[in-house]
Amino acid sequence: MKPSANDVLAQLENRVFNFSAGPAAIPFEVLQQARDELMNWQDLGASVMEVSHRGKEFVRVAYEAEQDLRDLMKIPNNYKVLFLQGGARGQFSAIPMNLKGSHTSADYVNSGHWADSAIQEGGKYLNVNVVADGSATGFASMPQQSQWQSNEDAAYLHYTTNETIGGLEFPFIPDAGDVPLVADMSSNILSRPLDVSKFGLIYAGAQKNIGPAGLTLVIVREDLMDRVSPQCPAIFDYRLQASKESMYNTPPTFAWYLAGLVFKWLKSSGGLEVMEETNRRKAEKLYGQIDGSGFYQNPVDPKWRSRMNVPFTLVKPELDATFIAESEQEGFRYLKGHKAVGGMRASIYNAVPEQHVDALIEFMKEFERRYG
Ligand SMILES: *Cc1c(COP(=O)(O)O)cnc(C)c1O
Repeated sequence: MKPSANDVLAQLENRVFNFSAGPAAIPFEVLQQARDELMNWQDLGASVMEVSHRGKEFVRVAYEAEQDLRDLMKIPNNYKVLFLQGGARGQFSAIPMNLKGSHTSADYVNSGHWADSAIQEGGKYLNVNVVADGSATGFASMPQQSQWQSNEDAAYLHYTTNETIGGLEFPFIPDAGDVPLVADMSSNILSRPLDVSKFGLIYAGAQKNIGPAGLTLVIVREDLMDRVSPQCPAIFDYRLQASKESMYNTPPTFAWYLAGLVFKWLKSSGGLEVMEETNRRKAEKLYGQIDGSGFYQNPVDPKWRSRMNVPFTLVKPELDATFIAESEQEGFRYLKGHKAVGGMRASIYNAVPEQHVDALIEFMKEFERRYG
């Protein structure tokens, strides 16, 4: 017999089914470990938050987190891994300041809300050419790459691998030729294996698929680090931060430590190949339920659908509030869609177990049976 939603919840120490878009679910085992060692970390009689980032215990945490991430993502040696602050939005400014060099323009792909935010911010530093734009379809899909108007003299080509709000995810890696490819991977990094060598720079705010808010990951090819503009704030200067092992200023130590635990959890769970399989199954089931119902809808072209963020609407939008209220009673949280889109959104990052997606699908079926 299938376990009921309440059976599944009972194993979770009174926690809920967390479908938050960000800050989002963190693996249960990781939280348990953090709790168990919070008060007396590494026999120091203090928590990890209360000790120097330069002490040997934390330096080891920082080093292992980087090594584990390099193993997981197979990051080549000619890339630096930086653990910074300022969020993905900080990088919207840091990227043009670091990569502009002698160029006057950069290419950007507009795939929705987050891409557009990067475009607005980038425009403060250089001329932005939008080389592909999905707005004509309401971001249900993107133009084929053969139709993109790329520029050979662009400082870089920026795109957003997964639109967290619109629920659109790139099914391929664009070919940028000799222009460095820059990707905002905030909401799908670590969700599947990736050929890092195709990118000049990858960045991600941690609070979706890595760990707590406050940490920003930047993976940058070394030869791109000599383009930094003299006005770039020191804390955003990749070359400076790389030379100081991301400790030019005090790093977000707790977030870095917790991200390190998540990397170890990913490794012990079988790595990114296993994550990809699980994520594919979770998404297929949920979209299957939406498409098969006639009661739920998702507007994105199936080829472009996100495996991480699944927005959906009810054919009877007057039932939205009832859906949210009843789902909350059953232990489902943060299913309300982003205000720009309305309806519902289920974010099903690595840390959201397949069982929780199964439970949501059961709830959706039952809700449709009663109100459909
Ligand atoms: C959440 C998000 C951002 C913004 O991240 P902050 O860390 O809040 O600056 C940017 N891009 C994408 C794709 C996101 O999902």
